[in-house]
Amino acid sequence: MRILLIHPQHEIQRFGAGVYKKHLRYAPTTMPTLAALVPTSLAAHVRVIDEMVEAVDTSLQADLVGFTAITSAAPHAYELARAFKSNGATTVMGGVHATLMTDEALRHVDAVVRGYAEVSWPRLLDDFAHGRMQRIYEPDGTEVQTLVTPAREHIRKRDYVLSSTVEMSRGCNKRCDFCVTHRLHESYVTKDIDKVIAEIRALPGKLVAFLDPNLIGNIAYAREFFTALAPLKKWWVGCVSIDLLNHEGLLDLMVSSGAKGFLIGFESLNQEALNAVNKGFSHPQDYAYAIRTFHERGVMVQGSFVLGFDTDDKGVFERTVDFIVDNKIDLPQFTAYTPFPGTPLYDRLQQEGRILSTDWSRYNGHDIVFQPKQMSVAELNQGLRYVWQRTYSIPNIFRRLWGAPYWVKPAALLSNLNFRRFMQRVHA
Ligand code: SF4
Repeated sequence: MRILLIHPQHEIQRFGAGVYKKHLRYAPTTMPTLAALVPTSLAAHVRVIDEMVEAVDTSLQADLVGFTAITSAAPHAYELARAFKSNGATTVMGGVHATLMTDEALRHVDAVVRGYAEVSWPRLLDDFAHGRMQRIYEPDGTEVQTLVTPAREHIRKRDYVLSSTVEMSRGCNKRCDFCVTHRLHESYVTKDIDKVIAEIRALPGKLVAFLDPNLIGNIAYAREFFTALAPLKKWWVGCVSIDLLNHEGLLDLMVSSGAKGFLIGFESLNQEALNAVNKGFSHPQDYAYAIRTFHERGVMVQGSFVLGFDTDDKGVFERTVDFIVDNKIDLPQFTAYTPFPGTPLYDRLQQEGRILSTDWSRYNGHDIVFQPKQMSVAELNQGLRYVWQRTYSIPNIFRRLWGAPYWVKPAALLSNLNFRRFMQRVHA
């Protein structure tokens, strides 16, 4: 059996057409994980293509082609599925969009794998081999025990700035209304600590990136995990929620285990906005202290902000830029509030008549797809461009990085120049 596993990308990130260069890419592990789950009894030939680093050749011959796609890449995944189907392949799709929009996905592919694939994907392959493949495969609740190590031989290591990527958990224990993580994985689950530590020990190089949406979704597990990680003397970067500082000693434990960079969803400087989107655990009055504390411990801060919340007025852009520059966030990033289809947020905005586009490729965080409450679409668009341009002006890059821990400066400068290039291409 010939199995082709494709990770389609939105045009912005696509190899050959996109704006990213190697320096911004961490290797994703979704498809290498699915490759590891192919039963050896099938004696299958498996090939993985991540469109971030390799163009997809639709004339490739395969019996089964699997896709995973976020919403903005879904239309392109459907286009690829059509091309492979016309060559006689059977097509399957999983990932967040197919899970949330299963009926739609089934109009374009032969089968959908919803949620976790650890148990259902091997079952689908077995069914396919025996000519009885069904249309929908659901997780059965036992996946947590079977989280596997990705087949890393399928990662084209030279094409990523960092190919030593790993995950210790799935999902998130929070429920922010604009986020699809908890829609794809309803509960926060963790992998066996010894297994993940062994996986990390085997990774080449000093620096490791965790791909988890939230490394501290289970505090007791996190404490045990980072205690076990420390003796490896690796450096690592990963996503944490801002309530990290509420847990005594946890930051120091993470730092002693090699923490060098946190990606944090600050989202807004307005508590009312955060409360309204179910992110009330985040307190803007604590942000400056948190950033200073991370910097003092040598941890770089990549901060993400969402613009266009219902409580955002036209002054939000300037306030956000001033805060970021004054508090020296090393690598800020911005997205427009985006109501992903299949979520309660989408349903609410649809009921209010505020959904302006159902072209999913525009649900990429940079296009405005809904009617904002306190400004026009053009004003939100201009505001998004303004925050990118101002925070990534050369003087402001240097103002922000002046506060960065010594070791971080070269890495942060390189990342800033790449983000600046991205901003110039996407928000020109
Ligand atoms: S904390 Fe982050 S990953 Fe978790 S639900 Fe909120 S936005 Fe999503």
